[in-house]
Amino acid sequence: MSRQALAILSVQNLLHNIQVIRKRAPKSKIIAVVKANAFGHGLRSTALNCDKEIDEFGVASIDEALALRKVGIQSPIVLMEGVFEPDELLIASCQNLPVVFHSYHQLEWLKHVHLPVALKVWIKCDTGMGRLGFSPTEVKDVYDILKNNPNIAPSVGLMSHYACADELNHPKNIEQFKIFETLSGNWPGPKSFSNSGAIFQDNIDNFDYVRPGLAIYGISPLKDITSDSLGLKPVMTLQTRLIAVKNLPKKSTVGYGATFTCQESTTIGVVAIGYGDGYLRTLSERTPVLVNEKQCSIIGRISMDMTTIDLSNVPNAKVGDVVTLWGDGLPIEQVVKNSPLIPYDLLTAVQMRVKFHWTLKINS
Ligand SMILES: *Cc1c(COP(=O)(O)O)cnc(C)c1O
Repeated sequence: MSRQALAILSVQNLLHNIQVIRKRAPKSKIIAVVKANAFGHGLRSTALNCDKEIDEFGVASIDEALALRKVGIQSPIVLMEGVFEPDELLIASCQNLPVVFHSYHQLEWLKHVHLPVALKVWIKCDTGMGRLGFSPTEVKDVYDILKNNPNIAPSVGLMSHYACADELNHPKNIEQFKIFETLSGNWPGPKSFSNSGAIFQDNIDNFDYVRPGLAIYGISPLKDITSDSLGLKPVMTLQTRLIAVKNLPKKSTVGYGATFTCQESTTIGVVAIGYGDGYLRTLSERTPVLVNEKQCSIIGRISMDMTTIDLSNVPNAKVGDVVTLWGDGLPIEQVVKNSPLIPYDLLTAVQMRVKFHWTLKINS
């Protein structure tokens, strides 16, 4: 049997999560955020699997948008960081890619183009994230510039982004929300503010469009709140197999740097996955994995192609047994718990040498 590092992707869970989001934000349209290879899940396959259930897609670059057009996706695809050079405006106009404007230099580029189709646009306002966006005091001016430009479609959107949406009731959330609410009071076009974390908070309005990323993939966007309790189910289950099982005598060390020493005679397993697959080396020792549904933990350093685990909990484990790194039965939130990593790090790190397999139902 060939190497079995496998990402199993559940269409059913993907569609389920979208339904959960719809219930949380029933009046809002959904811009499904599929940037960064759909958070590591596969840009094209993810989009094709949920195209009918969402309203629009959101990406970071025009390359991502065009890759989706190439496989026949027809929904609008929002360029959430706007265009990076003037030539992209023409493509965005022809390909139905709504464009976010966040800086005056992007407005300058509009002066020198004649677009064949009026461009749909969003104005990004910086309400406190301190990253992209016009300041609240500039928004009116930007709106006037766009409104008076013949290249621009009439309904101009207003959007912003939360800095602390992953924390329930963080004061910054309300602060940003209030700035946006005031600013957008009589706004004539659509409004969008919520990412995954904000969608699951009670005292925040979801406006006309929500922009979920992480929640679509079934991972809790809120610190210390489980995906289970939010009703979300992991889309990706990353698994591989045991390629060696052996007994090491007391005082043996395991792996590079000999960082782990067996305190007694120990059965260890060698697992066919490593940082070369995206199972990052910064995961701490004692990170949980599942072997035959039982929780074990990693010992020693993660290598490029292999990881060593303590098999004391599963005495009858044998070569070929399935090892789950995260997903069904082992939330990724739990996997990163004692590391500096967040689920986003792990998901976007998954490498192409891992086989990707979409299925209607994991374990069916
Ligand atoms: C990435 C991104 C999102 C999605 O964020 P999540 O927290 O993963 O839901 C939403 N909006 C913008 C502008 C983004 O860049």
